[in-house]
Amino acid sequence: MSMPMSRLEEAPSLEEAQGYDAVVIGAGPAGSASAILLAEGGWRVALVERAPFPRRKVCGEFVSGTSRPVLRALGLEAAFDREAGPPVRRVVLMAGRHVVAAPMPADAGLGRALGRDRLDLLLAERAASLGVTLFQPFRAVAIDGDRDGARTRIQLEGPQGERVVLAARVTIAANGSWERSNLPTDLPRRHGPRDELGFKAHFRGDRLTAGDMPLLAFPGGYGGMVRVDEGRLSLSCCIRREALERIRQSGESASAALHRHLVATTRGIAETLEGADLAGPWLAAGPIRPGLRPVHADGVFRAGNLAGEAHPVVAEGISMALQSGWLLARTLMRADPGDVAGRESAAQDYARVYRRQFATRIRAARVFAALAGSPAAHGALAPVLARAPALLSLGARLSGKARALPDATALR
Ligand SMILES: Cc1cc2nc3c(=O)[nH]c(=O)nc-3n(C[C@H](O)[C@H](O)[C@H](O)COP(=O)(O)OP(=O)(O)OC[C@H]3O[C@@H](n4cnc5c(N)ncnc54)[C@H](O)[C@@H]3O)c2cc1C
Repeated sequence: MSMPMSRLEEAPSLEEAQGYDAVVIGAGPAGSASAILLAEGGWRVALVERAPFPRRKVCGEFVSGTSRPVLRALGLEAAFDREAGPPVRRVVLMAGRHVVAAPMPADAGLGRALGRDRLDLLLAERAASLGVTLFQPFRAVAIDGDRDGARTRIQLEGPQGERVVLAARVTIAANGSWERSNLPTDLPRRHGPRDELGFKAHFRGDRLTAGDMPLLAFPGGYGGMVRVDEGRLSLSCCIRREALERIRQSGESASAALHRHLVATTRGIAETLEGADLAGPWLAAGPIRPGLRPVHADGVFRAGNLAGEAHPVVAEGISMALQSGWLLARTLMRADPGDVAGRESAAQDYARVYRRQFATRIRAARVFAALAGSPAAHGALAPVLARAPALLSLGARLSGKARALPDATALR
């Protein structure tokens, strides 16, 4: 159970560290969801977040209807409904000159979108209101596991930031997959021409039809648009590094080149953004790291993007983060994670339910992403979808939009 990559130098004993039942790293949807649910179960929880909130984030901001039971269990359903954009009733494919619309599957309820500057703040405030100790802006800089659990060293952001050591039997890494933290839970680094880079911008004054969520398929990438809070439109997309390099003119910023490319190649985007103004700067992140990964390793549980990531073409990452946070908290509260055997048995249970819930959509998303970024596929598929829009609804179904959580009725 030891993690030699990041042993704490001069690690204090467990007695010297601040003790919790669980330490959660990252206050995105996965981390905050697990922290809230464990705190409601009577656990003493520390939640560590490096960024001050509110903060905007590269994300399309759509939350599937399948996550409604989790929002309810988190005590945030009413706040979400008050602030989010309208229910999304139609999925619309915009590819080249084609615009094809189909009903969004509604068996698990309709999804809505809320800016991450609002959603993540609501989640973190809810956690704090339940007694979770929020360390923010603190960055987790080392984790050191042993038979008693793990010690996590955190550091206040900024030069010579204060250092604190947190000890817990259960440690959950939910710090996403796109930033490097030099923690043992980080994903291996890579850099290649087919990397997908994420971008996002908010607009006001657009012409999006109410209740529509366009899926954007353009040369070199894919994306989505949706109405979020306060009339803002969220446009987010991924583009392959090689495609971005090809379209960039000398001296032009990546976001300016991308904006020009989207409007020039995709009629639906040009029409939706005609007369619209940017509401804040473009944001960039990545490369993204789609794939299924171990949900527990070296004594640390993982939730959200760190556990598994679907290509954003399916707009399921927030739901997978919220739902994996719920699945993990439920598994931990049912098990007895006070010793190594209890934690390992909880890890096996969590791995099983995680795969059952998310593996299909992660695989389906890989296929959809490849099709969406290929102009040859647009030419062949768009006319087929125009004649049979039900195939679009089927795609939304395969992406998990109708896959309710197991035991969702058990959620309060
Ligand atoms: C272009 C694009 C569009 C997308 N659109 C959608 C969409 O419409 N709908 C959808 O459901 N999903 C979408 N996604 C996916 C979604 O954004 C992610 O899957 C989701 O944010 C994952 O949540 P998380 O809680 O795992 O991690 P994150 O949301 O990444 O949160 C991780 C948190 O950890 C913090 N952190 C990082 N390192 C440390 C550290 N060392 N110490 C302390 N804190 C740390 C970060 O500051 C962050 O707040 C999109 C993704 C992209 C790239």
